[in-house]
Order: sequence, then C-alpha cells, then structure tokens
Amino acid sequence: MHTNWDVTTFVDLDDTLFSSKRRHAHTAELQPAATLENGDVISYSSHKQRFLQSLLHQAGRVIPVTARNIAAYRRVMLRFEDQAVLSHGATILRKEGDVDRQWQAQVYEGVSPLVAEFDDLMRRIQLSPSFVRQEIRSWLVYDGEIPVYAVVKDNQRDELRLTRYFQEHVSEWLDARSHFRLHANGNNIAILPTAIRKESAVAYLMEELRATSPEMIFVGAGDSITDEPFMRLCDFSVVPRSSQLAEFLKNAIDSLSSEETLRSSSQGEPA
Ligand SMILES: [Mg+2]
Repeated sequence: MHTNWDVTTFVDLDDTLFSSKRRHAHTAELQPAATLENGDVISYSSHKQRFLQSLLHQAGRVIPVTARNIAAYRRVMLRFEDQAVLSHGATILRKEGDVDRQWQAQVYEGVSPLVAEFDDLMRRIQLSPSFVRQEIRSWLVYDGEIPVYAVVKDNQRDELRLTRYFQEHVSEWLDARSHFRLHANGNNIAILPTAIRKESAVAYLMEELRATSPEMIFVGAGDSITDEPFMRLCDFSVVPRSSQLAEFLKNAIDSLSSEETLRSSSQGEPA
C-alpha cells in the first residue's frame, strides 16, 4: 500500500542547513550556501547538512524559519519554493515572493511603539568604548520601514568578550524592559521585541496549511534554543548534533540524571 504523506518542515537556516566556514570541522566537501553583500561566500553546507536538506525536500514542503531579513535571505543560495519566515518571525514571505501584509500589520502593531527604545539602545551601544574601539559592531534589522530587532556581534568573533560586553552594556537595559528578550548563540546576540517570535509566525502558517490539509504532518528543525518553541509546535523535531539546542538538552538530561543518582543514594537515610 502506498500512502502520500502531506508533510511540511519548518527549518532554521544558519547552523542547521549551512554554517560559516570556521564552524565546519572538515572543509574538503563543503559547498557554497550563502554570500555576503559583496558577493563573497560566507556560509557553506557540509555533506551531512545537504543530506538533511535533501531528506526534508523529499518529504514534502520546506519552509525556512530564519533570523535573516529579506535582503540576507536573498543571499542564501539554496532554493526554497514555498513561504518563508524571516527576521525571527517578523516577516512572512508568500510563495510568490511578496510580503504577507496581514502578518506584517499584526507585527507592526506590536513593534512600531518601540522605535524610540531601539534608538535609545543603539545610542547606548554606539557610545560605549568597545563600539568606539570597533571591538563590536551593532545594527538594527529592518524589513520595512521600522526596525524589528537589534544585533550585536564581536568583530574578532570573541564570544567571551561579547558576553562580557552584553553584561556590562546591554543586560541592565534589557532587564528593565520585559517587552524585549534575548537571543544569544555564539557570536550573535539579538535583542528582540517579545512581539516577534518564530513560533508565532509558524503557528500562523500552520493554521493556514491545516485549513487545506487537516492531517498535515509537521517537522521542525533547528540548532538554537530560540528555535525550540517553534519545533515544539511540530510533530517531530530534528536537532543537529553539537548544536546549542543539542548541548542544552544534553546538559539538562545529565543534570537530571545526577540528581536522580543523588536521590536514590539518599533513600532510606533519616531526613
Ligand atoms: Mg540557526
């Protein structure tokens, strides 16, 4: 008996389907996957990442769910034929390549009151000694007229220095604002309005897809802790080995099992 499964995969891009060269342990079989603005190749896929992409495409529809904005998404060399969730969920591109205006209006409602706060954050960063010394760089990400999130990176990819920088110059600002949250993975810190979430955009598309195919099977794939909430909405999750999310799960399970060992060894002893 042959059954046609109706499958949609929501897949993160960077560090799931491709990575920057320094992240790859073996460089022999790498293929170009994304470029910088000047056209230089910055990201590559390994044969294992290409296997994953091919597997997902064979299964059905593949919808990218990425922090990249429209311009950065256009620099990805892999081709996707369906919708795409961009800018951490702030933007949905339709199949035809245009922006989903209904979604955008909904997002703008939550984000447009925050323009002054984004400006304040940028001013704070740009006045800091590390920025002036060009140790770090920072910018606001746009898809339309208003900023949707802020990025901070270390120019030497010094992740420890970036963490220290964040603690000294941004964390206080962020702690005072519950309507902003943090995405941090490697040399990449993003300060996001809570109104913007990958999982909200994924839920929106899922509802649309279920309307035409109620039995649709969903797969989620991603490497970051901030991918997990959209993967949780899916029937199955794919997590790359040694990724931030895989390490997080491993540590959580390890600490749980050591706790279990402690509990069982203290059993029967007086309280
Ligand atoms: Mg990623």
